[in-house]
Amino acid sequence: MQNLRRQRLAGNSFLRHNWFVKILAVSDQVIDRMYTLAPGGHFQEVGLILGCGDLPYTYLEYIVTMLNMPMYYVPGNHDPEHSQTDQRARAEGGFNLDLKTAYIKNALIGGFGGCIWYRPDGTNQYTQADAYLRAFSMIPQLLTNRIKYGRALDVLISHSPPFGIHDDILDPAHHGFKALNWLARFARPLYLLHGHTHFYRNNLETQETLSGTTKVINVYPYKILEI
Ligand SMILES: [Zn+2]
Repeated sequence: MQNLRRQRLAGNSFLRHNWFVKILAVSDQVIDRMYTLAPGGHFQEVGLILGCGDLPYTYLEYIVTMLNMPMYYVPGNHDPEHSQTDQRARAEGGFNLDLKTAYIKNALIGGFGGCIWYRPDGTNQYTQADAYLRAFSMIPQLLTNRIKYGRALDVLISHSPPFGIHDDILDPAHHGFKALNWLARFARPLYLLHGHTHFYRNNLETQETLSGTTKVINVYPYKILEI
């Protein structure tokens, strides 16, 4: 995974230093082993925690408490609508990165929550058109990053996969967002980490796919990567 960064570093005069941060990304399913692995020091080199949605906030709070590292997450369609005032609608100790970008540990990360709209009363669900509007709302931040840091994003976290990559065309609830394909082409992150689709569904054996210059990774249920 470091090869992509080295290629980017070699071709980008703005980046003059090598840096690596180990990331623990989690999504969609509570892993019971986390309750023994985290206290046992298994993730002690992890410097950044990323959540790709559909996880109980108590689980995220447990991870951030055990590892004591910055955590950023996006909400999934099984998460409540985000609220600053309702403690049940946010993960304490973490930052909701939906439609935002952040510069943390020399990494530029961005977030895009939710999934495709598939039922009327669903939370964090959007039509393809709504998703485009949401993605376009990130343009000012991405351009600012490009001016300030020489690149728009290193890692994009989302709940939904992009359209046609790790999604499931046979299931209306698991169509990917076309806006994410656009966002990846525009911001050119090294990695797009997503959740939402599980491997027991059709045609979802592939966990990593290179799309342009972005490696798309299905995080379900967790991944560790170094950038
Ligand atoms: Zn989901």
